[in-house]
Amino acid sequence: MVKLAAAERLPVVARGMGSGLAAGSIPMPEGSLVISLTRMNRILEIDTQNATVLTEAGVITATLQAEVEKIGLFYPPDPSSIKHSTIGGNIACNAGGPRCLKYGVTGDYVLGLTVVLADGSILKTGGKPIKDVTGYDLKGLFTGSEGTLGLITEALLRLVAKPQFARTALAEFDSLADASKTVNAILSAGIVPATLELMDQTAIVCIEEAMKLGLNTDVEATLLIETDGSDEQTVLQEAATAAQICEQQGARSVKVAQTPGERNNLWKARRSISPALARKAPNKLGEDITVPRSAIPEVVQRIREISENYGLPIVIFGHAGDGNLHPNVLFDKRDPEQWAKVEKMVAEIFAVSLAVGGTLSGEHGVGLLKRPYLEQALGPVSLQLQKQIKQALDPLNILNPGKMFPV
Ligand SMILES: Cc1cc2nc3c(=O)[nH]c(=O)nc-3n(C[C@H](O)[C@H](O)[C@H](O)COP(=O)(O)OP(=O)(O)OC[C@H]3O[C@@H](n4cnc5c(N)ncnc54)[C@H](O)[C@@H]3O)c2cc1C
Repeated sequence: MVKLAAAERLPVVARGMGSGLAAGSIPMPEGSLVISLTRMNRILEIDTQNATVLTEAGVITATLQAEVEKIGLFYPPDPSSIKHSTIGGNIACNAGGPRCLKYGVTGDYVLGLTVVLADGSILKTGGKPIKDVTGYDLKGLFTGSEGTLGLITEALLRLVAKPQFARTALAEFDSLADASKTVNAILSAGIVPATLELMDQTAIVCIEEAMKLGLNTDVEATLLIETDGSDEQTVLQEAATAAQICEQQGARSVKVAQTPGERNNLWKARRSISPALARKAPNKLGEDITVPRSAIPEVVQRIREISENYGLPIVIFGHAGDGNLHPNVLFDKRDPEQWAKVEKMVAEIFAVSLAVGGTLSGEHGVGLLKRPYLEQALGPVSLQLQKQIKQALDPLNILNPGKMFPV
């Protein structure tokens, strides 16, 4: 099909589940050929000895995780959209998620790829060997390429042993600033929880209104902390130390989940933030900046100032342990004045991130949304090199044209 498209110079857009948050799989221009990978949904091999799984690109992330966990293995990358995104889409966006603080992002698990190139030829790169420096790292090049360099059809992924124990806690803070500082305090103490997630008050209120999980809505922020591992004592000890640090940093309370049901509720809360925000305003624009962890308190403060200056709410949540924050501007797009403000607010949020040495996107990618800011983030030399790579791999510019690069 891609060969035909190349012959006709027809734009080709790879599509997984369409859950991307940067509008990457929206076909542009009209008349593009959209190739849905969702029927390539077979898990082809689980190799227990080498701890790998060979999968087609359209497999849903949660399905793959459940399959490998049945035999004691573990695929850690866990975007909050695990039930609604594909492995191919995860690789194309180099997806992260709550557990990536301890375990790394999708790209850290990609051992090999099969990719349909722009001329329709098929590239097989990588394999089961853990070490491989034979030539350039092409799997690294395609990971995070957002469908602009090739269509990923199969992936060989690394697995690890499933952690046997986990302890999940919710720390409640009367001050968002204290919660932000606590992230660094925990990590500086040498504890690396699997998860260290920040939610501000608006996020908590929206979740509670939508899900009725019994969350306290009068707190200014919470941290969701999960420690895990194969030694129960270590897991418990790390959880206790993290709780102690939260209290020292001003937490009002730390509630540890005592049953699988309580743990599930905490996770249900975290995973439902995005949909729950829809109750607050007709529209939201969710960003994905990542900053050095030490800068989180300052960045959180500056985002609040932007919100106050423009008079529109910004909800702050995200994978704070990674420095990855999702400031979501809430607004009504039918009001042109509000939309004009949102564009300025987003530009200011990006400027804040770049000023502290951060980046535009930690996991959602550039897609359509962040194209205008790419040069500011990368600088002219890197941008030019990236354009040359695109030109070399897709000289007719038929693969997801109009994405990633400023037009
Ligand atoms: C509620 C919610 C929560 C989310 N939470 C997270 C999170 O915690 N972490 C995170 O990283 N993301 C998150 N996301 C964003 C999104 O789910 C991820 O970016 C995901 O990886 C996209 O997968 P998909 O299959 O839906 O891809 P799509 O949205 O269909 O496509 C995304 C991009 O990848 C390209 N693409 C898709 N499949 C292929 C393929 N096989 N080959 C080549 N290119 C391809 C598309 O062209 C497009 O550019 C969330 C989204 C939602 C809606």
